[in-house]
Amino acid sequence: MNTKQIVLASRPKGLPQLTDFRFEHTGLPEVKKGEVLLKPLYYSVDPYLRNRMNDGKLYSQSFKIDHPVESNALAKVIESSSDYFNPGETVIGILPWREMCVVSEKGLQKVDATHDPVSNYLSVWGMTGLTAYIGLMHICKPLAGETVVISAAAGAVGLVVGQIAKILGCRVIGITGSDEKVKLLVSNYGFDEAINYKTTTYMSNAIGTVCTDGVDIYFDNVGGEISDAVINNLNSGARIAICGQISLYNSTTLPVGPRIQETLLTKSAMMRGFQVNNFKSEFPDAIQYLTKWVKDGQLKFTETTFQGFAQLPAAFLGLFNGENTGKMIVKI
Ligand code: NAP
Repeated sequence: MNTKQIVLASRPKGLPQLTDFRFEHTGLPEVKKGEVLLKPLYYSVDPYLRNRMNDGKLYSQSFKIDHPVESNALAKVIESSSDYFNPGETVIGILPWREMCVVSEKGLQKVDATHDPVSNYLSVWGMTGLTAYIGLMHICKPLAGETVVISAAAGAVGLVVGQIAKILGCRVIGITGSDEKVKLLVSNYGFDEAINYKTTTYMSNAIGTVCTDGVDIYFDNVGGEISDAVINNLNSGARIAICGQISLYNSTTLPVGPRIQETLLTKSAMMRGFQVNNFKSEFPDAIQYLTKWVKDGQLKFTETTFQGFAQLPAAFLGLFNGENTGKMIVKI
């Protein structure tokens, strides 16, 4: 049997292009002991995949040229030679970008396919929700009444961070890339204020204007000049979680920015990078809280869905243009 796949055709220099991907046909191997034949239903596309397109030392394994790109996905089991998975079940795992694939049972987990929408396992119930919870609760440790600033606030992680901070009684300011997203953050997701960084000339002043009591917590998804502007407004004892640096992922030169050590020193501020997978022991607690908040209607979520296997590269590139609100998903 044949299937379609999407491989990495070339390593991008700067912003990735559609031509960095190639569609091709490939044969499907037989399903051996401990393997399953899967039909992917939904793929998550994530900013960190950009890092995997590079060569060299990375925090996750580099994609190989002419090999399929892979990302987190939900799939239906079609055929099984595994003792753990049966045909008809829905599983989650890191899967190659193939319309059908044969993979090892290792690394797969069953999910409850009756959950509606099941794609939430790739977003608010998945890495997105966990990243938001861990970064905010374990790195930033917010207190009621504190001011929390979030960059890429209308994206997958940002939306969840902002709403958790509101549940905890914080004042929440979002930074985002369009007026429509600004409105959405305030009217639909309970943010106190939001700033469109694309139409604001003096970000540092704009942040100072809305953060009348200064910034106690900065949840940094983007890095670069936006973060420089937030850091100008830090309060004494501030905490910064470095979750992502998407504004720098396509840089071809070493970014040069303000040297912030003196600010951290004089403000007795703490800045810490984290990777969600290093906090696995905290996942059960995080899932319990996220589930409760969603059930109670305190935590709302949205997904931007591109339709069809062929849209995987475009959806991924869309992350760098802000084409998503909430989690970027591709429905196959
Ligand atoms: P996301 O926020 O849903 O998507 C990325 C968003 O970033 C876009 O929608 C866009 O929104 C914004 N953006 C893109 N280019 C930008 C630029 N040059 N300057 C400012 N904003 C830009 O993605 P996500 O999955 O939630 O991830 C958010 C961040 O967390 C990423 O940096 C990601 O790498 C990181 N992350 C880290 C971990 C971890 O374990 N540390 C886990 C998951 C994700 P606008 O419309 O606002 O521009």
